[in-house]
Amino acid sequence: MSELTDSQVVELADRVEHFVRAEIVPYEHDPRLGAHGPAESLVREMRGKARDAGVLTPHILPGGTHLSQRQTAIVLQRSGLSPLGPTALNTMAPDEGNMYLLGKVATPEQKSRFLETLVAGDARSAFFMTEPADLEGAGSDPSMMKTTCRRDGNHWIIDGHKTFITGADGATVGIVMAKAEEGACLFLVDLPDPAVRIERVLDTIDSSMPGGHSLVRIDELRVPADQMLGDPGSGFALAQIRLSPARLSHCMRWLGACVRAHEIATDYACRRHAFGKALIDHEGVGFMLAENKIELKQAELMIDWCAGVLDGGNLGTVESSMTKVAVSEMLMRIADRCVQVMGGTGVSGDTIVERVFREVRAFRIYDGPTEVHKWSLAKKIKRDWSASLPS
Ligand SMILES: Cc1cc2nc3c(=O)[nH]c(=O)nc-3n(C[C@H](O)[C@H](O)[C@H](O)COP(=O)(O)OP(=O)(O)OC[C@H]3O[C@@H](n4cnc5c(N)ncnc54)[C@H](O)[C@@H]3O)c2cc1C
Repeated sequence: MSELTDSQVVELADRVEHFVRAEIVPYEHDPRLGAHGPAESLVREMRGKARDAGVLTPHILPGGTHLSQRQTAIVLQRSGLSPLGPTALNTMAPDEGNMYLLGKVATPEQKSRFLETLVAGDARSAFFMTEPADLEGAGSDPSMMKTTCRRDGNHWIIDGHKTFITGADGATVGIVMAKAEEGACLFLVDLPDPAVRIERVLDTIDSSMPGGHSLVRIDELRVPADQMLGDPGSGFALAQIRLSPARLSHCMRWLGACVRAHEIATDYACRRHAFGKALIDHEGVGFMLAENKIELKQAELMIDWCAGVLDGGNLGTVESSMTKVAVSEMLMRIADRCVQVMGGTGVSGDTIVERVFREVRAFRIYDGPTEVHKWSLAKKIKRDWSASLPS
């Protein structure tokens, strides 16, 4: 249960928004922003400001209590008003999901060693699940996992390859999934470790997450047994706990980014004239902005609905699947319209609109591609249909 009333959350969200607009937006053209995300010095500088302003890790209260999911939605959306906001405020992926998972399942010792430093914004973490396609590893289908772990006295030894691991370069806390005889296992791992080698940081369409996304080789990594999360074989069940809130938090942050892109496109369309009038007065442009307004509200309502389901104590696997598909597809359309409304400026780096477009394109893939969610929803629809037949 959250300790903040809803009006206190609105006040917190207003402070977050003010901070992002006043302090973080000016960093959007900082030269330390590279193709693989903001440099560590920029991350530290922005987090220092967030700490001073009392808005660092705003969704976790002192003592470790999380805001409810509906409250988190309000705060994380505002943190997303700049693509750099989530990194500055420590509400970013994968750390937000990792902190959530550790808060739920880590032992007190694991929390004091790995979680506290993350909540304090002093460290970054990475979640190692996906494996390279050319090695026929786990991607959309986690049951294809090839990374193994085996017991060796008081340790486990992990071997395998992982890919697209966000933030692995520069992370000090890793959560690694590997397969044992008992089934999938999750381990907390101290990084860097020579046995966890970053083969390369991939060049991807997006560029907002520190450390980028890495191809990693894990070679005879020794992990003390007390750094396993849960029991041997419980890895997939534990990952389920992280799944829905993490999916939903992407929707929250990228909704914020699209709200801002829409503001920028609206400003452009109202100021810029063509054929004797403001662009917005041309029906083709006005309708695009009207469609944005409608879909921004639909996305917000769907997030709020799913957050309510999670707050009711449900895993929300189906609801978060539906929300992830609907919101990521809507945000893609919104960002695309923003680019179109702004003509050449829309595809230039002069505003964040093109960056938001690139970011939400990647969001249609991670945390489950649209088609995989629809496929699993279709399976459920068929199961429900079968169950509804008279016996
Ligand atoms: C920017 C980014 C960040 C990421 N960060 C992380 C991270 O931090 N940690 C991590 O472990 N992973 C991460 N990932 C990996 C991500 O989770 C995978 O890319 C995703 O699960 C899809 O796996 P894949 O890329 O192997 O696609 P594949 O499994 O090869 O699938 C390719 C395509 O096939 C289609 N498809 C697959 N199955 C079905 C089906 N049943 N029905 C219909 N169509 C289907 C879909 O269109 C899908 O896009 C990240 C990915 C990206 C792009």
